[in-house]
Amino acid sequence: MVSMQFEHDLKDAIRTIPDYPKPGIMFRDITTLLGNARAFRRAVDELVQPWAGMKIDKVAGIEARGFILGGAVAHQVSAGFVPIRKKGKLPHKRVSIAYSLEYGLDEMEMHEDAAEKGDRVILVDDLIATGGTAEGAVKLLRQLGAQVLAACFIIDLPDLGGAAKLRKLDVPVRTLISFEGH
Ligand code: AMP
Repeated sequence: MVSMQFEHDLKDAIRTIPDYPKPGIMFRDITTLLGNARAFRRAVDELVQPWAGMKIDKVAGIEARGFILGGAVAHQVSAGFVPIRKKGKLPHKRVSIAYSLEYGLDEMEMHEDAAEKGDRVILVDDLIATGGTAEGAVKLLRQLGAQVLAACFIIDLPDLGGAAKLRKLDVPVRTLISFEGH
């Protein structure tokens, strides 16, 4: 767990937009955190703190906010970066997986040569809610034989059970702050 003061500062750096993109959702907007040099740096440092000094081959980021955080994390731990994208965006040979959204299914993809058997990978996104997106990403990485060392998120919405779902898949989860509800 991070310190109370840091948790408070991080929460302060995140903007909440009620009823976006639809009624009942509290959208946690991290663009304000990204624009705050101190908060951005601390968040990246804290995300990877348990794995500092370990050999990490790749950091996989989930489109789109996971690209910004994942790129910074990859730089920090001297690892390569792997984008996990929505269907139809990657130009080379891909592996893909369907994953569940609140209403229906979507597909995400990775280049088939973006990770290889035995690669030690950390997965990064801004927020975990139901865990459907991150679960799909873990399965894609495992399909290529990668070892998912951990999944890191700035924000957890524990009422939606995503972190628990990932832990059931034997993926250690690191989150920095949590908000109640949706
Ligand atoms: P889930 O698959 O339900 O865990 O949803 C996680 C994905 O949806 C992440 O990529 C988040 O960026 C996005 N997301 C879900 N809920 C919210 C929310 N309340 N505020 C901001 N982003 C969200």
